[in-house]
Amino acid sequence: MQIWVALSNSDLTTLNHREVELQAAALAIDSSGSAGGHGFVPTSLPLKLKLQGAGLAVSWPGGSFQTKDNQLIFSARSAITVASIKRAGGKSAHPSYLGKIRVANLKGKLRVSLQVGLDQYLRGVLEAEMPASYHPEALKCQALAARTYALKPRLPHDLDQTNVCDSFLCCQYFAGLGAIDPRIEHAVVATAGQVLAYNGEPLLALFSSNAGGHTENYENCFSDPQSGAFPPAPLPYLKGVAEGKFAVPAGSEAFLRYLYNAVAVKHEQISADSWTPKFHWKVHLSADALEAHMHHVVEKLAATADTAPYVVPPKSREFGHIQGFEVLKRGVSGVAITLKIKTSSGDWHVSKELVIRKAFANADVKLARLSSARIFFEQGEDKLGLLNNLTIFGLGFGHGVGLQQTGAQGFARAGQNYRQILSHYFPGSEIQVL
Ligand SMILES: [Zn+2]
Repeated sequence: MQIWVALSNSDLTTLNHREVELQAAALAIDSSGSAGGHGFVPTSLPLKLKLQGAGLAVSWPGGSFQTKDNQLIFSARSAITVASIKRAGGKSAHPSYLGKIRVANLKGKLRVSLQVGLDQYLRGVLEAEMPASYHPEALKCQALAARTYALKPRLPHDLDQTNVCDSFLCCQYFAGLGAIDPRIEHAVVATAGQVLAYNGEPLLALFSSNAGGHTENYENCFSDPQSGAFPPAPLPYLKGVAEGKFAVPAGSEAFLRYLYNAVAVKHEQISADSWTPKFHWKVHLSADALEAHMHHVVEKLAATADTAPYVVPPKSREFGHIQGFEVLKRGVSGVAITLKIKTSSGDWHVSKELVIRKAFANADVKLARLSSARIFFEQGEDKLGLLNNLTIFGLGFGHGVGLQQTGAQGFARAGQNYRQILSHYFPGSEIQVL
């Protein structure tokens, strides 16, 4: 099966490109919307493409032409390097891809995408998403989740005329061709064609790194991908599950304190995912650091289209001096659903886990976002009763919905196979063969 993967810009934040530069052995135009350019082979490289009217301007050292076609598809004898973008972690800074590259003028936006075999794509995703040293059964879990995600991403990419994109900010990370570890190759081949399904359809196979003892319901962490509504309709197979047997009921702040103390203070192994340092963390912020940055960060979240609906200012619309923090609503894992930031100008309410994590971004401690939203606070006061420091205690790394990579590793080491592990993370799901 072949799929189309939209390629992002260098910082993975947009699918729009200013210019596309291609390098490859025997690069040729494979097809275009009409006869123009078909079979063309440039005499020298790199080949550069830009928007030109409704079509494309194509140039290379020594020549150029314009096409009325809104897209060109390129093939080559081996890999095609997209020299206009960079990827971290690859062998070279510019990524190379096995497959066909399509450069398109999609209504005035320059887009690049790759046509690639599903399992070839999967090899790249696994290389980027999970260490090859993980247990073979954990790697198989990741292979099924990633293969399923490619067929059913959370945000549909039909308008881009692709199946998925290559950015972990939107879909799952895919950095192109590299040396494939034999252990990853084994996980892909051993699960060939297998996908996760619910009621006979591929399910939304979300995954993250570490749930910190308990996964969360979909509707408590994500908004509806079409309408932005929060909470969205629940998904029956994305329900929070415990990663161990615990002495305290899940969902409360007391539960989070219990998990944190057991692992961070008493050094107990209490769950399948407590073996990793990602299980718990803490961040300390002085009142000065909070005052210096939080009002900018929260006001920016309130002014940015994709986060604005989840940030509710007080009547004054002003962000005053910070007086304290309180989680008003939690999910089944204890994840913060709504956070109250009490200020001298009124209370700000921030909802949804990723937005809450971003609200604490703080340049003083080089923090872009919290590792998770499964948090509780200790707030220090000065003699006058004013906030003078904040410690945020946290559990887990990532959104904590669906498959947990470190949890799968824990279950696999304890002897479970990938089918057992996946039925734990996606209750009611089944494995289908394409
Ligand atoms: Zn995407």
